Amino acid sequence: MRSPLASAEPPVPCAECLTRTPGIRWGDLCPDCLDRLRRRASSRARYISLLTSLLVVWYAWLRISLRPATRIWLAVIVVATYFLTRKIATQILMDLMRRPPGEQP
Ligand SMILES: [Zn+2]
Repeated sequence: MRSPLASAEPPVPCAECLTRTPGIRWGDLCPDCLDRLRRRASSRARYISLLTSLLVVWYAWLRISLRPATRIWLAVIVVATYFLTRKIATQILMDLMRRPPGEQP
């Protein structure tokens, strides 16, 4: 995240690669490390959200009588579940993967 006083501050080292990068705050990652972390978290979040969407379909298959209107709503809900779960899981995984190994919960 870019600090409002970025131009007045000396470059701060990245928390992961220790490259001095202007515009980041202490403990933040440089843009390269942040992109790498986001890609790793997003690829894992894809599987989590796919599993969650399949669970929604499985639950609806077992519990709900699937009439045509219900199927349309189910499709909307499954797609929404996929994207919401992916966004939330990506953020949680980024937070978990960013911590040093000694601080894992
Ligand atoms: Zn870095």
